[in-house]
Amino acid sequence: MILVNTRDTLTLADCGILVPVMPKTTDLVLRHLADNTREGERPVWMIGRDETKPTRSDLERAHSPEYVARLLDPYAREREIERTFELITEEGDYHRYDPSSATRRLGELVDKLFDVCGGSMQCMRRALSRGFCFFLGGGMHHGQYDYGSGFCLINDIVIGIRSLQATGLIRTAWVIDTDAHKGDGTAALCADDESIITLSIHMGDSWPLSEPRTRSDGRPNPSFVPSDIEIPVYDGENDAYVEKLANGLEQLDAFPRPDLVVSVYGADPYEHDELPSTATLRLTLEQMAERDELIRQFLRERELPAAYLHSGGYGHRAWEPTAAFLRRRIAEASV
Ligand SMILES: [Zn+2]
Repeated sequence: MILVNTRDTLTLADCGILVPVMPKTTDLVLRHLADNTREGERPVWMIGRDETKPTRSDLERAHSPEYVARLLDPYAREREIERTFELITEEGDYHRYDPSSATRRLGELVDKLFDVCGGSMQCMRRALSRGFCFFLGGGMHHGQYDYGSGFCLINDIVIGIRSLQATGLIRTAWVIDTDAHKGDGTAALCADDESIITLSIHMGDSWPLSEPRTRSDGRPNPSFVPSDIEIPVYDGENDAYVEKLANGLEQLDAFPRPDLVVSVYGADPYEHDELPSTATLRLTLEQMAERDELIRQFLRERELPAAYLHSGGYGHRAWEPTAAFLRRRIAEASV
């Protein structure tokens, strides 16, 4: 199934956040997939959002109680959005932020991101019952224990997995993160958690790994906590990507089979991605397809239920790898 959040209307611009406007990747994916559906017919492979939302306890399964309290506080939550989206500089100036152009309160973004997390939780449940579900949203893998980072206020991956564990539906999970940026929040949150095995293949020398190893408060930067299987890909290594991933999957195979796999998809390793920080990884559409089919095949051979979360993908052509991947799933009727 492909899960789509049709209620999602709040934009960053509504809140005065001036991230360069780019077409919304998920809308473009859907428009493209609609070609596979007769006019006027609801696509059989598509489901909408239900009412699933993370509770306070769900949030506290991944984040500190103090941080969760700040996210639930109507004033403190605005400060956390400012930090996560880097809206205020150290000198106190606005950075890509113009409150005077906002028509909605900054804090409303928190509710939107909680709703995204609910989508990821719904996707994981659906994957357990159907074997496969792809959520055109979610994958906020930079969310750390007590702060948000890289536009990821909370870590929906860890929240979703631990909430399923708490209800007894699963005991163990693997996270396969193929977004161009390292899944640093997930790695740090799961470092001492043997029930969640993390694999991340990512740019070895770009954000967040281009940050200092020590934070301004003197504490080590958690972005450098390694995933269980950590696969850095350096500038110029595009042609080695698929082989590196295959080696990583082989290592993953040595761990006991999990009850659920969460795939943090990431369309941003694609060569036409427009986010400047993805410039060192440039996979062709064919290489993206090789990546995606390698993982899909690996999961199918082991009959592992897989919840895919979209995560990154920026610019006018970012929809292409995702649409191609989903078109192949629809064609083989495995959605
Ligand atoms: Zn990314």
